[in-house]
Amino acid sequence: MQSFNHPPQLNTSRRFSDNLTSAHALTLKAKQGQKGNSQGKPYALPAFNITTIQGINAAFDAFETLGASGLLAVSNSALKHFGGGDPLTGLEVAAEYIASRAKRSSIQVATHLDHGDYTTEAGRKVVQGAVQHLTSVMADNSTDHANKCGRSLEENIGYTREVVNMAHPLGVSVEGELGVLAGEEDEDTKSEISTYTQPDEFEQFITETGVLMIAPTIGTMHGPNKGKPGTKVKLNIELAHELLKIADRVQPETIFVAHGASTLYSQVVEHAVEQLENLGAGMAEKYGQTWKNYVGTDWEQIQGLIGAGFAKINTDTENRQTFLSALLGAVHENAAKIDIRWYDKKTTDALTQSYLIKCIMADNYGVWHEPKLNVEKFKFDLHVSLADAINNAH
Ligand SMILES: [Zn+2]
Repeated sequence: MQSFNHPPQLNTSRRFSDNLTSAHALTLKAKQGQKGNSQGKPYALPAFNITTIQGINAAFDAFETLGASGLLAVSNSALKHFGGGDPLTGLEVAAEYIASRAKRSSIQVATHLDHGDYTTEAGRKVVQGAVQHLTSVMADNSTDHANKCGRSLEENIGYTREVVNMAHPLGVSVEGELGVLAGEEDEDTKSEISTYTQPDEFEQFITETGVLMIAPTIGTMHGPNKGKPGTKVKLNIELAHELLKIADRVQPETIFVAHGASTLYSQVVEHAVEQLENLGAGMAEKYGQTWKNYVGTDWEQIQGLIGAGFAKINTDTENRQTFLSALLGAVHENAAKIDIRWYDKKTTDALTQSYLIKCIMADNYGVWHEPKLNVEKFKFDLHVSLADAINNAH
């Protein structure tokens, strides 16, 4: 076998600011089923894509209510949004706000750059900034987004290895991607093609890059349209188990990450369609079918992913849908309210509900302390505030 310089290991003695830690530390705990002092069955951390301060507040409220581990992800376009057009400013704003919330928190969170692109000059600056400000970065180098095609394995390994060299000594964990995932996440992440991860390439990739977190492609899809309406998303769980066997042999601390695993919440769709009908003006005719056509990953499939070694489950589309559904309801309730905070409160409460249910789906509760609500009795309801949800579920 060809010899090569071993990539640097993750510096696990790095201490971040209070209650902030690497994504790998939290997801490894999850994969090993550690909650408090006990060890049970594996669970997963949903990674919430944050785009606003309200989103961060909703996520912290959900994590603290459940005593859950938290994973907050920011994409390049979210960082531009936070930074008034400049992603590097956005990085500082988001990181400092999250650190301030974490300091006062009862749980631990990791901050993660989603789909960092190390192959372009602009993208590289964001990845370099993220290594300084966040606790985890994704090096998404498997796809050439500009030319809409896959990159060669060698190129992917080369770029990813550079990120590992920079991040691991600082205790920042790195997530790589292997294979091409179809669908659309945001303007930076679009692909019409999809290829499964090849087992032999997988072994070479984790060995030569040293990444501890990897997004294999096994059939999940970015965005709200994961298949024909009324059908189930096709996941290749056998392939995931095959890859897990390799990981257990080569690098047992490897964490699998599911991209494009958002869930379709029927309550959210029903609420949205009802609001469209209430709003009249042809809204239901114009947009109702789009809502009804959405396809997501279901509860059973999320459990299947956890059983196959997935401990980070990216979740974005359902939270956007929940936000929009609540906003439609708020507009219907009062379309002349001159108070931004009132609309913010409605949508933030809904986001908290969305985050709570996704954490519960992934068995991510009771990690740092007992949940403040009865998870068995929790009902996902867009009309309910967090305080009411806690009271109702006791
Ligand atoms: Zn993704």
